[in-house]
Amino acid sequence: MTSVIAHWIDGAGYAPEGGRTAPVYNPATGAVTAQVALADQAEIDAAIASAVRGFEAWSAFSIAKRQQVLFAFRELLNARKGELAALITAEHGKVLSDAMGEIARGQEVVELATGFPHLIKGAYSENASSGIDVYSLKQPLGVVGIISPFNFPAMVPMWFFPIALAAGNAVVLKPSEKDPSAALWMARLWQEAGLPDGAFTVLQGDKLAVDGLLESPDVQSISFVGSTPIAQYIYETASKHGKRVQALGGAKNHMLVLPDADLDLVADAAINAGYGAAGERCMAISVVLAVETVADALVDKIGERIATLKVGNGADAVEPDMGPLITGIHRDKVSSYVDIAEADGARVVVDGRGFAVDGAEDGFFFGPTLLDHVPTTSRAYTEEIFGPVLSVVRVSSYDEGVALINSGQFGNGTAIFTNDGGAARRFQNEVQVGMIGINVPIPVPVAYHSFGGWKQSLFGDAKAYGVHGFDFFTREKAITARWIDPAARADGASAGINLGFPQNH
Ligand code: NAD
Repeated sequence: MTSVIAHWIDGAGYAPEGGRTAPVYNPATGAVTAQVALADQAEIDAAIASAVRGFEAWSAFSIAKRQQVLFAFRELLNARKGELAALITAEHGKVLSDAMGEIARGQEVVELATGFPHLIKGAYSENASSGIDVYSLKQPLGVVGIISPFNFPAMVPMWFFPIALAAGNAVVLKPSEKDPSAALWMARLWQEAGLPDGAFTVLQGDKLAVDGLLESPDVQSISFVGSTPIAQYIYETASKHGKRVQALGGAKNHMLVLPDADLDLVADAAINAGYGAAGERCMAISVVLAVETVADALVDKIGERIATLKVGNGADAVEPDMGPLITGIHRDKVSSYVDIAEADGARVVVDGRGFAVDGAEDGFFFGPTLLDHVPTTSRAYTEEIFGPVLSVVRVSSYDEGVALINSGQFGNGTAIFTNDGGAARRFQNEVQVGMIGINVPIPVPVAYHSFGGWKQSLFGDAKAYGVHGFDFFTREKAITARWIDPAARADGASAGINLGFPQNH
């Protein structure tokens, strides 16, 4: 009998006996390690009701007390992040150091959020009109929903919940059912940090739980990260139900290599950004656009480096470079894209199909794969693969490269590699993408800038974290106040009746 990974409702783990469940795997061994509870309507209702109570309690905390809880969470997380990293590696498969890296990037947002009083303090205009002051307050929304993908079970929720909580909201987090333990671990940590019960709720589940959040009148906003078709569904459905919504979708990130670039630096960057976390990153580089004159040399350099990569169980004492994919189904899908590219005329330079790790033959491994001459009409080029597959596309010029990037459906991240500052400056201006690297392959913005793409990579107006985060998780009230001067009152002066639209004097 495997254990059941529960919801976190009213400050305690909860999984009803006989409820629906789904298997959770260790992708490095292929073994089922647990079952995760899948919420039915009763649990959805219980989770949201608990969050409504949690909001009442938490929003009544003073700013100083809220800040103390955030600092306590930060300290606990920093002291015990190794436990969280081990959970991530066991359910996601990424290597332990990469799991630690994901936590560090999430922790940045926690640290930003500890400074929230400065960012939610509103504004005051004295004597905006004669004897009238105008001021604005930033108040929490209430209960906010976060729906996260499998690929960053700690970092993606941390893009949102530190700021949501700092602003005084209560959070209901619906993590991916593929790696649900990180969310539960973080919920326990919030309790230890002093957050009142209900202010951080975890609702485990599938589409039913998601739809429950989208449709509930008690949930004020939705922050979603996942694939583009689901992001679009979330955006449309949450909007229809009158909610504020930000929905981040998929990606196909290109790296444009100009002939003057340092090709060793480029090859290292392509390896890191293409194969790190087995390519299961929304900011992974999946296409290298190489200007023809340097393409052969670059393909050789990338190929040489791939030969040195070690693939294995991310929890091993001697850490490999790359772990498995999330499921056997996903591995087969990645494999099918290599078949498609090959059938469409691409050259398979390094083939990761059928890859197995000795002693872990049931793990969901896929070897690092390099494709060259990938036709831009192939589905292997136009669609997101989300695996360790790097496609090289040759272009004749900078202009052809930028035109290709701008013709795609996604606009999440991109990078240019060059030593020409003028070309880089033109690139940042012309490219239709939300996050840009200049000689930096994975340009994930720091916590005080915001994260988000363009086009099909983000539905909604607000990006994640940074100033966008504080705007998203607060709503503003503007107050216009008039207090009669005691001297004027003593005169018994009256403004008289005036039915005209208020004007300022
Ligand atoms: P996914 O879209 O399959 O799932 C995301 C979440 O939506 C999960 O919690 C899942 O339970 C839920 N969900 C799945 N199907 C649903 C449905 N039919 N109705 C309602 N909810 C549903 O994504 P994934 O496979 O977990 O994650 C990988 C995807 O996420 C990739 O496309 C990747 O690019 C994207 N991603 C994007 C970013 C970004 O910042 N833009 C960051 C990380 C991941």
